[in-house]
Amino acid sequence: MTRLAILGSTGSIGTQALEVVAAHPELFQVEILSAHSNAELLIAQARQFHPNAVVVTDETKYSTVKEALSSLPVKVFSGTAALNDVVQWETVDTVLAAIVGIAGLESTLAAVQAGKRVALANKETLVVAGELVMQAAAEKGAGIIPVDSEHSAIFQCLVGEDIRKIEKVILTASGGPFLGRKPNYLVNVKASHALQHPNWTMGAKITIDSATLMNKGLEMIEAKWLFGLQNEQIEVVVHPQSIIHSLVQFADGSVKAQMGLPDMKLPIQYALAFPQRLQNDFKRFDFKDFSKLTFEAPDYKTFRNLALAKDAMFKGGNTPCVMNAANELVVNSFLQNRVSFIEMSEIIEKVMEQVTFIEHPTLEDYRQSDKDARMYAAEHVKHSQLSH
Ligand code: NDP
Ligand code: MG
Repeated sequence: MTRLAILGSTGSIGTQALEVVAAHPELFQVEILSAHSNAELLIAQARQFHPNAVVVTDETKYSTVKEALSSLPVKVFSGTAALNDVVQWETVDTVLAAIVGIAGLESTLAAVQAGKRVALANKETLVVAGELVMQAAAEKGAGIIPVDSEHSAIFQCLVGEDIRKIEKVILTASGGPFLGRKPNYLVNVKASHALQHPNWTMGAKITIDSATLMNKGLEMIEAKWLFGLQNEQIEVVVHPQSIIHSLVQFADGSVKAQMGLPDMKLPIQYALAFPQRLQNDFKRFDFKDFSKLTFEAPDYKTFRNLALAKDAMFKGGNTPCVMNAANELVVNSFLQNRVSFIEMSEIIEKVMEQVTFIEHPTLEDYRQSDKDARMYAAEHVKHSQLSH
């Protein structure tokens, strides 16, 4: 029996993870659930899965959750400090890190420091502080199993392989809803349009990141830390059908790919059950439905965020942290119609130049860089035409 802490249980990944858990009650037991503001869903999940404790990080929702669960033997906590505490409990075996954004960093780090197995969906954690997190994981013997589909694909390709024999990894990208479009089209797109992803249904933030290709940029940095790669070993290819989830090329030129229909429940289940493969009834891939799998180079000129993320990866230090913070802020503003699609990259680029470079940041440096980047980005958002 694996005892799970599911952080971000009310999100897209969190709810799909609970579907996986519900399908395998003999293997998984929910020990902790956490949500930020969706008290209603958290309460319903607690009633269904009987966790030992729940954490609602938005403190204004505490009394609602506490009252609703008062007749059940469920402990209710609030605030981020509680989150960092519960992941370290002895009764937790595996932590699914599925909070969105840098908000997930400290609880993930706390889990790693307690030597827990971490099923990692929260890519921003590695983008911001990959070196620090991977170092802690190595020291404490915490296994990090990726949930992100590309990284799960690479991880699966590497089972039984010598990781030193990787020549390069190739991350596949669907290209998002604006594949093939040029900047003159992108100037007018709205959030409602960008939220229509062709292949995946996900939370709002990652869906916008997929439309700008920032998501693939974040994933390059995530891959660098997860698999200990050199920057030059990471490549991106656009593959609009999202059937090949990523590839690894080895020293002898052999290339391994992992394939399947796009369904996040598969990498979630793989990460939670690793090294087992569990039987399930997910829809199977059929070659007859896909007569063509196609590949093309990404358009770095149109999708500037991908180029910016690549630059940040090469520059290192606190640059990916700064880029991530600026991105989180502009994505939020774009969702509120306060900046345009094109302005998002312009602002991120400016903020990357504004925040002071730190080559070897501490956790405190990351906190400060994140804060500074958000302050500069907010200032630029205020000057957008759309904010007036
Ligand atoms: P969602 O927006 O759907 O869910 C986010 C979850 O995090 C919710 O449970 C939310 O709580 C919680 N949350 C939000 N803000 C905070 C905060 N400040 N403190 C604590 N908890 C918070 O996101 P996704 O599930 O789509 O994505 C989660 C992570 O997984 C992201 O890092 C994303 O990049 C990654 N990922 C997602 C994929 C997907 O298919 N969705 C694929 C690959 C990676 P509440 O709703 O209660 O406010
Ligand atoms: Mg992905």
